Amino acid sequence: MIRLPALLSRRGTAMPIVAMVLVVVLLGVFLWLLDRSEREEEEHALIRDALWVEQSLRFQLASDVDRLEQLADTLGRAPDADVVTAMRQLVTTNPAVERVLWLDAEGRITASVPPVPDGRAVEEGPEPSPRGDALRLASSLGKRIYTAPYPLPQAGIGFDVVVPVFQDRGYAGALVGVFAIDDILTHHVPWWIAERYQIAVADSNGAVLGAKSRIDEPTPRRSHAIPFDPPGRGMTLVATVHRTESNFGRTVLVAAIFGLTGSALWSLWMVRRHMRRRLRAEQQLRTEHAFRKAMEDSLTVGMRARDLEGRIIYVNPAFCRMVGWSEAELLGRGPPMPYWPPEDLERCAQVFSTVLAGEAPPDGFELRLMRRDGGRFDALIYEAPLIDANGRHTGWMGSFVDITERKRAEDLARQQQERLQHTARVITMGEMASTLAHELNQPLSAIASYSAGCLNKLRADTVAPAELIPPLDKLSKQAMRAGRIIRRIHEFVRKRDPKVAPCEVAEVVEDSVSLIRADARKHGVRIEVDLAPGAPPVLADRILVQQVLLNLMRNGMEAMAQTPRDARLLRVTTRVQNGAVLTRIRDRGCGVAPEVAETLFSPFFTTKKEGMGMGLNICRSIIESHHGRLWFEPAQGGGTAFLFSLPVAS
Ligand code: ADP
Repeated sequence: MIRLPALLSRRGTAMPIVAMVLVVVLLGVFLWLLDRSEREEEEHALIRDALWVEQSLRFQLASDVDRLEQLADTLGRAPDADVVTAMRQLVTTNPAVERVLWLDAEGRITASVPPVPDGRAVEEGPEPSPRGDALRLASSLGKRIYTAPYPLPQAGIGFDVVVPVFQDRGYAGALVGVFAIDDILTHHVPWWIAERYQIAVADSNGAVLGAKSRIDEPTPRRSHAIPFDPPGRGMTLVATVHRTESNFGRTVLVAAIFGLTGSALWSLWMVRRHMRRRLRAEQQLRTEHAFRKAMEDSLTVGMRARDLEGRIIYVNPAFCRMVGWSEAELLGRGPPMPYWPPEDLERCAQVFSTVLAGEAPPDGFELRLMRRDGGRFDALIYEAPLIDANGRHTGWMGSFVDITERKRAEDLARQQQERLQHTARVITMGEMASTLAHELNQPLSAIASYSAGCLNKLRADTVAPAELIPPLDKLSKQAMRAGRIIRRIHEFVRKRDPKVAPCEVAEVVEDSVSLIRADARKHGVRIEVDLAPGAPPVLADRILVQQVLLNLMRNGMEAMAQTPRDARLLRVTTRVQNGAVLTRIRDRGCGVAPEVAETLFSPFFTTKKEGMGMGLNICRSIIESHHGRLWFEPAQGGGTAFLFSLPVAS
């Protein structure tokens, strides 16, 4: 299907081309007609001029021959007349006459003008002279005879006119006029004829016998031939037109016209090509625009551009959907933006100026924004400088992702994780409860016996008050020891929000060891602690780290169930390494079989009868939430070492 603009453009460019071609054709026809009429005109002029020249030459020749005949007549009547003077006059007044001879009846020269040195009747040329035949013919016919052309000794080609002289007794000789063809043409063809034509005399074979020409023209254009009679004998007079100057002008003109037409056609073709390219570019642009628009409309990420002053210059449909305001309502708006929640105006304004100062975090930032209906939503925003095609910074481009749902899910997951951690802690404590109760028994029975001793002494009234001070002092220390144990248990089991603060790993290790020591004693496990002196604090929730430590120590103790009693050793060490505090819990247990190593940290993986399989999983998530790492490796000399690192608080 041909589309309208394409059709218009085709017509638009085809019409001038057709018009141009028509102009060229008409111009060509006009020039051809002009040329033809000029040629005809030239032809007529040529014929006319050729006839005129022939006539004028004939007239001239006739007048010369007439004079010869008059002389012959004079000689016939008065043989003693002074013919030589008349002959000289004829030769001098008429340059076309080469020579005049007076021959006697035998053909001998009686007189010659100009004179012949050795008195020969016939001058010897390269060819035999046809004069002898002419003399015989003239004497027998009694009238003038023209000879065939023959070469003259000095003057090219010529011919003779033989006029018989008759006296009373009969033929008495002849007067011969020698005419050189070149001279005839030279002296009797006027300059204005010579300027336009080459006038030549040719023999019956077309060979040029003599010519007059202003210039030597190698390629003549047109010629006209007429019999040159007299002298006759097949001779023709040929007039040939020279190449005229006007032809050159015409050629230049025609060349210029065709050149200009060619360049006009070329320009039109170029314009057409240019238009086609433009149309194609426009089409591409339209397609691209439509594609971009479709892309823009289907984006779920909100896009917003602001100028350098912070006024909104662009919003996409997703952004409008997100905030609830239309594009028209948002464009041109400056701070405070309608979607800034009133309770967070200050923070929004601060973020706004940070972005305008070019200090927005490149990893994006979160901001709570307001919808038109008053609802709040959390957006993850990335701000970047808006750079135009010339590389100029013209504003700021922001992309908005609604992360409300994601945050809610994350919160939920975090709460569940905390609950899980808490449950795990309670379980750990439950498992240690009997040994802890036993541990508590010691200070409590000490308190009971001290208080019983004091009461006895008081009842017997045999004691001075000062004597009661040491036992009461011991009693209070035991009570404090018991209190500390209970506080630690309480602290450990209490449900609380995670509290990240700088804490000493050494302290956490000691607390954990003191909590588990009773249990260890029961299992016959020795615990050795080797703490790095002066280790820097780490940023962590100490109860969670304690939970990790207790879990790993309990696992170690349980792994040594089959180990001979005196070899059951649990070693806890801390080291500072690469900006982190590294804690290592090494046991002398059964080790981790290679086939379970992969799944050790998976939830619910356990090899124990009453095991839950959640301990290591929780430990790893706790350590990773502190930006640390938890792993294990086989220990030298048997057993396993569990290690975790926590970054040093900067
Ligand atoms: P549970 O202790 O309830 O089984 P854990 O997640 O703490 O759950 O441990 C998972 C499994 O990892 C244990 O069942 C045990 O097989 C293995 N394991 C843990 N610590 C050690 C260790 N120190 N030595 C050998 N195996 C261990």
